[in-house]
Amino acid sequence: MVYLSYNKSPPACFRKPHFPFWDIQIFMNNEWHDSCCGRRIPVYNPATGELLCEVEEGDKEDIDKAVKCARQAFQLGSPWRRMDASERGRLLCKLADLVERDRQILATLEAIDSGKLFLVAYFVDLVGTIKTLRYYGGWADKIQGKTIPVDGEYFTFTRHEPIGVCGQIIPWNFPLLMFAWKIAPALCCGNTVIIKPAEQTPLTALHMASLIKEAGFPPGVVNIVPGYGPTAGHAIAQHMDIDKVAFTGSTDVGKIIKKAAGNSNLKRVTLELGGKNPNIVFADSDLEHAVEQAHHGLFFNQGQCCLAGSRVFVEEPIYDDFVLKSVERAKKRVLGNPLVPGVDQGPQIDKKHFDKILELIESGRREGAKLECGGGAWGQKGFFIQPTVFSDVTDDMRIAKEEIFGPVQQIMKFSSIEEVIRRANNTHYGLAAGVFTNDINKALTISAALQAGTVWVNCYNAMSSQCPFGGFKMSGNGREMGEYGLQEYTEIKTVTIKIPQKNS
Ligand code: ADP
Repeated sequence: MVYLSYNKSPPACFRKPHFPFWDIQIFMNNEWHDSCCGRRIPVYNPATGELLCEVEEGDKEDIDKAVKCARQAFQLGSPWRRMDASERGRLLCKLADLVERDRQILATLEAIDSGKLFLVAYFVDLVGTIKTLRYYGGWADKIQGKTIPVDGEYFTFTRHEPIGVCGQIIPWNFPLLMFAWKIAPALCCGNTVIIKPAEQTPLTALHMASLIKEAGFPPGVVNIVPGYGPTAGHAIAQHMDIDKVAFTGSTDVGKIIKKAAGNSNLKRVTLELGGKNPNIVFADSDLEHAVEQAHHGLFFNQGQCCLAGSRVFVEEPIYDDFVLKSVERAKKRVLGNPLVPGVDQGPQIDKKHFDKILELIESGRREGAKLECGGGAWGQKGFFIQPTVFSDVTDDMRIAKEEIFGPVQQIMKFSSIEEVIRRANNTHYGLAAGVFTNDINKALTISAALQAGTVWVNCYNAMSSQCPFGGFKMSGNGREMGEYGLQEYTEIKTVTIKIPQKNS
């Protein structure tokens, strides 16, 4: 493992004896490799715009090599295929323990690489990662087939087998958590993995390489190839010897991946894509609570969440009050260095994304929404955007239709339950939704009517490893997490045996 082109002293936590350097190489067969193409990806700190380090850039050739390693590790009779399921579970739990040991290192890496607040990384992303690994560690020896009472003189049972070599492509907004969401169910079911972190945020994935080796996973079971989407990512999606691809990212890229899977070997596809999620606040709800939840539902992680509740529908009688309180709340946000306690909001991920958000804010102004606060860049360096709230937003505006993925809240008015259901569902997306009401009938009516993979009532962003997660419509295909997540990583095989005579 190696090494670092970093010209300043690393933070104190990196000087610990067991973690002297940052990993920057491609991880295959439990070894670290330079890229075939000889190129490197520059990795920046979005809070300062400064170069942190460069990592080896994987391309098609590196993906081919990683697939060979993963295929070899999946051969019948290999250590991985012969391993007891309970041992797979133990390895996942061991990995969770190692992540827990390195929690501060991983949270710091995540913060400087993605601009995420250190405390959020430490208390949300790291906790979620550890819990996910343990959750699927617990499942490994509990995946069971059935015996089936078929007609005739036969004995039939099903086996839930691993699919094989899984390609996994993850985004930059929750780099480590998405890494865990992808590898944990795949390994739990006995698959092997090639995972590509986002080009902006490869550092925690590369540190996980060391932990995977240290935990004792056999060579080739997990292979980590940093690289760009159209090159390394595309090579995964169209590979003829990858059996399944799982992707989290934008809807546009999700379409490309599904097409590539279809044009190559019809590999299985799981997609977790974008959202333009409605958050519906009725006049009978607890106003302070709804304002606070809607605020966090949008501004969490600088608004860079597919789950962001970015269309807040508020019932007419409380609309003005809700807007006033939301603006007061947004103005209280403290922007700054994500490593410093007390800071609520860090930078956006990079210049391209920063420009896209500012352009959408401008479109909101142009199309006649009322800019209540924010609306521009913040600070002298880095990619910070002021917390922005728009009121008087109408459904036809771009800010009401397009995923902004930034700290920009849209507040709309509604006057009846039928109207708000129709408007909330009037989108190609269907990832999540929130409802705030103290009327159980309204809550049940709405949660049945909304076209979304997750509906929260009187809360928002209440995620847990045990719950399935995924989208209706163009927000994705399939479900990750929870018991349902196992279905995405198993093939069902029916075995029927001729017997001389059966008895009931
Ligand atoms: P965002 O727009 O939020 O950056 P993307 O969907 O572009 O999200 O990226 C999410 C992940 O998909 C990243 O790992 C990225 O490298 C990868 N990716 C981007 N384009 C492609 C592509 N054409 N094929 C496969 N993966 C891609």
